[in-house]
Amino acid sequence: MRIEEDRSIGRGASPTELQWQSIVGNDATCDGTFYYAVRTTAIFCRPSCGSRPPLRENTSVFASADAARKAGYRPCKRCKPTGERLPDEEWVASVTAYIHSRYMEPLPLNKLAEAGHGSPFHLHRTFKRVTGATPAAYVQQVRIKQAQELLRSSDEAVATIGQRVGLPNAPYFITLFKKETGHTPAQYRMLHDKGENSYES
Ligand SMILES: [Zn+2]
Repeated sequence: MRIEEDRSIGRGASPTELQWQSIVGNDATCDGTFYYAVRTTAIFCRPSCGSRPPLRENTSVFASADAARKAGYRPCKRCKPTGERLPDEEWVASVTAYIHSRYMEPLPLNKLAEAGHGSPFHLHRTFKRVTGATPAAYVQQVRIKQAQELLRSSDEAVATIGQRVGLPNAPYFITLFKKETGHTPAQYRMLHDKGENSYES
């Protein structure tokens, strides 16, 4: 059955495999990095939204809430992608943005606290309450996601990729990667090597 398409709604980019996994997994670590919009409902959400996962073929991604709105989508009432944020959320969002731009460098808690102009203790507690993860765990999640992207999109050696994402100790990188994804970096690359073009092109 073919659903009649609303011509007034613009199509964004198709989600990449990683974006799609974030949408299906309600991954809060991706909030703010993109928004997804569902053509059949004309609504857009944050990746972490707890609404029922949409069909992938109906899903578009946008870099900003503004872009989604301009394309004709309305903000979701549940996850409020354009909604007012509480001061704590704002603060944590500024720290997560910092992490996303600096994950390749050492990011101990005191450095994050300094960047966020708060105390390490307060940041640790607030960050965990807002995101569900400690700052240290969040940093590692971001690194592993970047490593996944590089393993899929480049031929660089595993150790080099570890260095590029801020995990220069190769055995530690491999152990952490396996803990987070269930595969070693080499296994992950093999599993995702074929069919890459069908996802990303
Ligand atoms: Zn939502």
